[in-house]
Amino acid sequence: MATIRVDRDRCEGLGMCEAMASDYFELTESADGDDEMTVLREEVPDADRGHVHAATQACPVLALTLTG
Ligand code: SF4
Repeated sequence: MATIRVDRDRCEGLGMCEAMASDYFELTESADGDDEMTVLREEVPDADRGHVHAATQACPVLALTLTG
C-alpha cells in the first residue's frame, strides 16, 4: 500500500494527474475560476500502483509523490 502526497504550494491545477488516473485525482473549478485538484483516495493498493505512479510522474511541477 502506498500513499499519495500533494505539495499544495506547487500544484497549479494543470490536470495531468487527472488525465492519467481519474480514479484518484479530480479537478473541479472553484468559485474564483481556478481549477482545484482533489485527491479522491490517498491510499493506493498495489494493484493500482503502476498507473498512479505514472500520474505522479506526469505532474509538470513535481507536486505529487507516492510514498511507501
Ligand atoms: S498534475 Fe500536478 S499541477 Fe496538475 S493538478 Fe495534478 S498535482 Fe496539480
